[in-house]
Amino acid sequence: MPKLKSLLLKKNEERRILAGHLWIYSNEIDPKFTPLKNFTAGDLVKIEAYNHKTLGIGYVNPNTLLCARILNRSLCPIDQNFFAAKIKQALAVREQCFAEPYYRLIFSEADFLPGLIIDRFNDIFVIQLNTAGINRCKSLILDALITEFNPRAIVIKNSGTAQLEGASLEVEIAYGTLPAAINVEENGLQFVVAIVHGQKTGWFYDQRANRTAIWRYVKKQRVLDVFSYVGAFGVGAAKHGAKEVVCVDSSEPALALTRENATRNNVSSIVQTKAIDAFAALKEIKASQEFFDVIILDPPAFIKKQKDLKTGMEAYLRLHELALKILAPRGILCTTSCSLHLSRDLLLDIVRKAALNSGYEIRILEQLHQSSDHPLHPAITETNYLKGFIIKKEI
Ligand code: SAH
Repeated sequence: MPKLKSLLLKKNEERRILAGHLWIYSNEIDPKFTPLKNFTAGDLVKIEAYNHKTLGIGYVNPNTLLCARILNRSLCPIDQNFFAAKIKQALAVREQCFAEPYYRLIFSEADFLPGLIIDRFNDIFVIQLNTAGINRCKSLILDALITEFNPRAIVIKNSGTAQLEGASLEVEIAYGTLPAAINVEENGLQFVVAIVHGQKTGWFYDQRANRTAIWRYVKKQRVLDVFSYVGAFGVGAAKHGAKEVVCVDSSEPALALTRENATRNNVSSIVQTKAIDAFAALKEIKASQEFFDVIILDPPAFIKKQKDLKTGMEAYLRLHELALKILAPRGILCTTSCSLHLSRDLLLDIVRKAALNSGYEIRILEQLHQSSDHPLHPAITETNYLKGFIIKKEI
């Protein structure tokens, strides 16, 4: 193993790491012994406590506040076998949970591979290399995937935040060729997705369990799927007995796929699409005095940074007030938020206020969270980001 440079922490800064965390911030580094300017973004380092006790091997980025992440708690070669072993470990859990090969295979820190996301669409893999350190390991990760799965294609599609780490936001077909149509099988339904031009990796596996949670409420009901993307909630509701489903999204290409997905699942006569801003759609529906029995709200993260919390919360409040107004008496509101900075308690408070402001009694029937292919790392609260509620409007 080549000799690694050391990254030395100040006294007591090892405590959080010993308590289970994997992240190190720049103010925790001893600037005298191992100044960050001596490192290049992505360098592998041996991470040491002030007394030189090894805390693990990780990678460093001197340009970001979160300046190092641990890959392994003891020193080991970071080679193809390292990635193959972590991928196999994650795969075993997915295979326990899901019968079909469609899932998030690697969820970054929660699968002990900080910075790496891998979504699997059978023999197609979409990966995000969201940190400089994991980006340096690109060819090792590709080789591990190719050896383990013999894939048809591997696409690299980094998240917006990867730019801060110097990563490219260009979509790259890193291996094989992409077929014209890419499919997902989920909860017994068939969907077509757009990986290159779609949102994020193309599909939101994190909502899988929540999509089935609404089935018991939709029979013979009018359903409004707001922020529908390619219709995962709405088409599922139609298939499970809704008498009418309206999918609203501002993206016409996403709605074109929604219609295709409705056709694939033989519910095209039940599913309609509306390309319009969600807030405008809800106001229009209110003005026309229409009501829906079930409303699904799955907005994009309104709060991307802590400083957006206040304005984001106001937007969530308006959205919930509008939705409750067009929800039929004794109707069901299914709401979720993927904003990391909006806690479950804050979302609950928004829902409570929205009901109070609109003069309705509500009950929380169910709590929603991310699916098991997005495990939580017990020490890293950032891995716990999706929260939601199924709410009953009483009057
Ligand atoms: N519910 C979907 C995922 C939603 S992702 C699923 O289960 O797969 C968020 C969606 O919101 C995207 O499709 C995006 O096009 C849409 N969107 C973002 N801002 C919007 C707005 N102001 N009005 C309507 N749709 C919006």
